[in-house]
Amino acid sequence: MTQPGRLSPDPATPMRYVSTRGAAPELDFAQVLLAGLADDGGLYVPAQWPAFAPDLVERVADMDYVQVATEVLWPYVAGSIDHDRLVTILTEAYATFASDEVVPLRQLDDRLWLAELFHGPTLAFKDIALQPVGRLFDEVLARQDRHVTIVGATSGDTGSAAIEAVRDRDSVEIFMFHPVGRVSEVQRRQMTTVLSANVHNVAIDGTFDDCQDLVKALFADEAFRVRRQLSAVNSINWARVMAQVVYYVWAAGRLSGPGGPAAGSRPSFSVPTGNFGNVFAGWVATRSGLDVERLVVGSNSNDILARWLATGALDMTVVEPTLSPSMDIQVSSNQERLVFELWGRDGARVADAMASLRSTRHLAFDDNVMAEVRSLFDGARIDDDETLAVIAEVYARHGMLIDPHTAVGIGAARHCDVPGDGPVVCLATAHPAKFPDAVEQATGIRPALPAHLADLFDRPEKFDSLPNDLDTVRRYIDANGR
Ligand SMILES: *Cc1c(COP(=O)(O)O)cnc(C)c1O
Repeated sequence: MTQPGRLSPDPATPMRYVSTRGAAPELDFAQVLLAGLADDGGLYVPAQWPAFAPDLVERVADMDYVQVATEVLWPYVAGSIDHDRLVTILTEAYATFASDEVVPLRQLDDRLWLAELFHGPTLAFKDIALQPVGRLFDEVLARQDRHVTIVGATSGDTGSAAIEAVRDRDSVEIFMFHPVGRVSEVQRRQMTTVLSANVHNVAIDGTFDDCQDLVKALFADEAFRVRRQLSAVNSINWARVMAQVVYYVWAAGRLSGPGGPAAGSRPSFSVPTGNFGNVFAGWVATRSGLDVERLVVGSNSNDILARWLATGALDMTVVEPTLSPSMDIQVSSNQERLVFELWGRDGARVADAMASLRSTRHLAFDDNVMAEVRSLFDGARIDDDETLAVIAEVYARHGMLIDPHTAVGIGAARHCDVPGDGPVVCLATAHPAKFPDAVEQATGIRPALPAHLADLFDRPEKFDSLPNDLDTVRRYIDANGR
């Protein structure tokens, strides 16, 4: 076995991170991990993009997932995390997955493949990033003898993945707010059956937006923020993006590397997209040297990104609930990282543009920028009817149940008529049992929970219910935090 990435880059020159809005201090990895959002409202990106070793894709066939992850992540964390600790953290993080391969690849037809990203503890792809990120938090905080309070709002997937990532960790206390009666029973139980002392589930008498507003208000209260050492693990955290780069390399190496079923061809990826974190990780992989034909952005009816690719403008509309709720967004926050690159890392321009997008709900891009975007990205909108049709068709043809998010990715790949003859890898972002109603509606079959969650409905739940009131919530955290 090779010793992946041990000497590259030199740990004496650790990675620095800059904000996409150009007005926040440069930070190192440990600081970026804990900061999440930059002080200027921007998102952190590496000061330089690291390059993969030129033979990385060729070597993937002889590596396991943890080895690929170690080699890909090392340049981003060098200087903040020791190499040995990185290996241990990744080994432990991916030992929680129900598949030895971590991300198994399955062939659907000639060109179409599924990369199953849902074998983690909470059955959605968020585990791939949050399992290592929870451990990285603990590592950095323990070393500084610090303790933080993570607060978050969830409409479903993020809450359970974040809770699983930090449960029983000494350095972290987590308070997760969900809107009462508005998350599915599977999703609620995945959160509330975690009985760890550092996990606090709170059902808020309100909507998801109310929960999010409470979180924002808690962060805006400076005295409280400092007193409780508030922190977040939301999808704009750089550490989450970097962990998602790995499976692009993994799938490319396994399929298009030497000895693979599509050896020598250029792979494409189709990505069911919400906040643009997942597909942006694919762009990062190409920036570091991965040879990719196309990145397909799959949208549900909330199609701001598909329209952007078609028209060259971002136009905000209202969010419509769909069968793929984890993609029901108005603005894809991680897209700012791509815009920063497209505009030659002009942070001041990005800051102006984002302010104007918020106020006018419109942002147009030049033709030459869009030409560059379209040379790599393509996109399509798949509505609920088509989502159900794709689920039914995949079941009829392949005997396989897929979740509605995955169906959007497959549908988008078909619409986009991907050039070349390389494999088209659809990222399967959730287990079908996580969205049983849609799957049953499409196929007549209710998918069963996997073995490790089979008794989910028999487990005791622990949560508190609070009114949608900032003062009450603040007092609750002070009384129940450590
Ligand atoms: C979060 C999520 C997505 C969207 O991913 P982004 O990184 O926000 O684009 C897609 N599918 C599922 C199942 C998810 O949980």
